[in-house]
Amino acid sequence: MALLPFDQRDGTIMINGKMIDWKDAKVHVLSHALHYGSAVFEGERAYNGVIFKGRAHSERLIKSCELIDMQPSFTADELDAAKEEVMKVNGLTDAYIRAFAWRGSEQMGISAQDTQTHWGIAAWEWPSYFSEDIREKGLKLMTSDWKRPSPECAPVHAKAAGLYMICTMSKHKAENAGFDDALMLDYRGYVAEATGANLFFVKNNTVTTPTPDCFLNGITRQTVIELIKELGYEFEERHIKPEELGDFEQAFLTGTAAEVTAIGAIDDHRFTVGDTVKTIRSAYENLVRGQAIDSKVA
Ligand code: PMP
Repeated sequence: MALLPFDQRDGTIMINGKMIDWKDAKVHVLSHALHYGSAVFEGERAYNGVIFKGRAHSERLIKSCELIDMQPSFTADELDAAKEEVMKVNGLTDAYIRAFAWRGSEQMGISAQDTQTHWGIAAWEWPSYFSEDIREKGLKLMTSDWKRPSPECAPVHAKAAGLYMICTMSKHKAENAGFDDALMLDYRGYVAEATGANLFFVKNNTVTTPTPDCFLNGITRQTVIELIKELGYEFEERHIKPEELGDFEQAFLTGTAAEVTAIGAIDDHRFTVGDTVKTIRSAYENLVRGQAIDSKVA
């Protein structure tokens, strides 16, 4: 069944503080963001009516605005309240929430000093980013030719629209070759992240993740690192070379949309969907639903 396009759905979207009918939530074609990529966004999830780490996401949206030199036109308190309101008017308890901000059509051209920062919040039901089958077997990733840029070449810690251009191209190439997602190396050739999620690897009792010095230090990543330590695993954050991938036994992705998802293969390297991934996955699932961790590693 074809996916119902996102502009044809029912509901209410908040734009610049006002509730608008979903189908009327439009921007002008001469918006600066559409031509020059001047937009930032957040992806958040609510579980049982509670937005997980909502405040951290609000603060990151403001930080992303500042990192791309766009004046935020809202506060974290306003964002938090607006997200709650959007959930409420749409009758949602378990949802994906998209908060976003963009430069409008007040000025066209590279300079955007006279544009205003517009903002919006939409929310909808989005149970799982990957299908159940893929989640059970583990994702298949293909290494992309595109590299995460150096911090001297882009505002790499902003969740900014323009940084996703190479992610979409990488993901398309991977999907067309029969993979589920792409693995991206960084400008130095180190293993960086997937197209919309962070990476973790497991060997024996140690969980290793790349140092986030040129890509998003995901909110899920930070949460999962705390869980890994609480669960009693050894943890290390360091640069990882692609040649090392074959040394790891298990691997997984973390992200708001992806949550904790096992990786079954990267190129020719295979990984098992093992106990460590499963333990961390269920600890995360319990945490986001407000339940305590119940299994400690010996
Ligand atoms: N990297 C990229 C490129 C992403 O798009 C995301 C998803 N926002 C992440 C990492 C994970 O971030 P988070 O855990 O905050 O959702």
